Amino acid sequence: MDKGDGVTDKAKQTSIHLKSLDETRFFGRTLGELALPGDVICLDGDLGAGKTTLTQAIAQGLQVPDSEYVTSPSFAVFHQYPGRIPLYHMDFYRLHDVSEILDLGLDEYFSLSGLTVIEWPTRASGILPDDRLELTIENPGDDSRIIRCACLPGWETRLADLFRQYPGLLLESTMGH
Ligand code: ADP
Ligand code: MG
Repeated sequence: MDKGDGVTDKAKQTSIHLKSLDETRFFGRTLGELALPGDVICLDGDLGAGKTTLTQAIAQGLQVPDSEYVTSPSFAVFHQYPGRIPLYHMDFYRLHDVSEILDLGLDEYFSLSGLTVIEWPTRASGILPDDRLELTIENPGDDSRIIRCACLPGWETRLADLFRQYPGLLLESTMGH
């Protein structure tokens, strides 16, 4: 199976429309509630797209205490937060090469019992687990966001349930087909 840049051809694609910051927070909290030990969520998108904002909401959904504020670890690359399961927040913005990630041993967290959330995941191209959730956030220049989701069955079932419950989030989907 391809371990390259994208989730493979077998991935299901979905686009969702978040109409406000509140909807981003809702979506993030829900992802945090759905997360299972060993999950990996990749957040792609330009500066200001909302990757750290979404991570903060995911942390809330994981019951990370408010006192543990999730901030951009760009200067730190990695930060771990305690929650229902641990949150491993990684930001590869300042890294240039996969070898830097391997030297830091960060890939070892992907299979531990927490949730890994990665900003700038293209820096880790080739070493990410297949069964990850890839979210690409687009900022149209207002407070709404379009998020393109790609994943394999491990996430698909959970997301399909979520979208059945909240169909208003969906723009288009090949999930459940
Ligand atoms: P990134 O980590 O992708 O560089 P940040 O999360 O740091 O982006 O910044 C996103 C900014 O956009 C924040 O100031 C946030 O309040 C703002 N914002 C406005 N609307 C939204 C939305 N719907 N979703 C996410 N962020 C939003
Ligand atoms: Mg960020």
